[in-house]
Amino acid sequence: MKTIYMDNNATTQVDPVVFEASKPFFTQLYGNPSSSHRFGGQVGVALKKAREHVATLLNCTANEIIFTSCGSESDNTAIYSAIKAFPQKRHIVTTRVEHPAILSRCNSLKKEKNYEVTYLETDWHGRLDLDEYRNALRNDTAIVSIMWANNETGNIYPVEEMARIAKENGTLFHTDAVQAVGKVAIDLHDSAIDMLSLSGHKLHAPKGVGALFVRNALPFSPFLTGGQQEGGRRAGTENTSGIVALGKACQLAADHLEAESVVVQALRDKLENGLLSTIPDTILNGDKDNRLPNTSNISFGSVEGETILLMMDQAGICASSGSACASGSLEPSHVLRAMGVPLTFAHGSIRFSLSRFNTEEEVDFVLETMPPLTKRLRKLSPLSVEKDIPATPTPS
Ligand code: PLP
Repeated sequence: MKTIYMDNNATTQVDPVVFEASKPFFTQLYGNPSSSHRFGGQVGVALKKAREHVATLLNCTANEIIFTSCGSESDNTAIYSAIKAFPQKRHIVTTRVEHPAILSRCNSLKKEKNYEVTYLETDWHGRLDLDEYRNALRNDTAIVSIMWANNETGNIYPVEEMARIAKENGTLFHTDAVQAVGKVAIDLHDSAIDMLSLSGHKLHAPKGVGALFVRNALPFSPFLTGGQQEGGRRAGTENTSGIVALGKACQLAADHLEAESVVVQALRDKLENGLLSTIPDTILNGDKDNRLPNTSNISFGSVEGETILLMMDQAGICASSGSACASGSLEPSHVLRAMGVPLTFAHGSIRFSLSRFNTEEEVDFVLETMPPLTKRLRKLSPLSVEKDIPATPTPS
């Protein structure tokens, strides 16, 4: 059975071009870039090139890029560094719909270090209110951290404008752009954004590599200490093959992003319109007019997302649900809860996230599979609106 992979916000396939570029760094060019011999030195040269590719994609300078192990590390580093830089500032602004990498760090600073954290609310399309944001900023706000794009809904936030507002307030601005990099254009040149996180495995590089953009001249404290790698900003021998791969993935994104996003969005729209029009009692979660081109989060009323996923899995389709199993019960995701999506819909949410590797045939297959699949499930659901046929034959 063919696998139809539509879970690219969870992770992506390593692009074969990226894989080829990184291969020599396992078995041939395995030197340590910090070594003084030429064998290690040539790896250092490759890292320099990779850094330039990342910088080109973001339109910043290469020395503003710090390689990390993942998006979560980049996020944690950004918050950690900001609060170290301004120890007298004891307030943080973020949103209720951030990734747990940000939320859990903010929650522990609140619980363990008595920081005050303002979590911005969203409306039911997941949009933020700029007035609420302006009012949240204080003289003692150490950092604002707001994601560029949401991993579940794909919603894009006005981070440029929010960064300018933070700057006027004298506050550092970090954005978690893990889902945005490689999917939408990012230009940090004339931007007020101070720090930005990205992750390799979300843009067709392997897992285990990420980066943090830190604007030049910004006070910075390393999260990992004990080595002079990354200009003393992140200790630990570099994941050289991963970094080369990330550089190549960024180069591909810089070259093809615009054309690719048109194609991916057309597939996403075909999928989304088809599902919404053929399956009754479905809604779109998120901001239809301002989202990533690859993401569609659809709720199927009166059915459990996890059950839909299981049936999709049996048909070879991979996606993810907006419910998580917490303490034995299925809880709607914190993002959908924050948006106020009604429970019967929040429980049945499925995120489809596409990539350059999806095809129209795959979309057609999903469109053929989903209507009978959801119909069958609804017959079994006590809350169902489609109970025209009994779920099990009634004894005569
Ligand atoms: N931030 C966002 C918005 C994400 O979607 C993810 C991963 O899903 C992360 C951060 C964490 O990235 P990583 O898996 O590289 O740690």
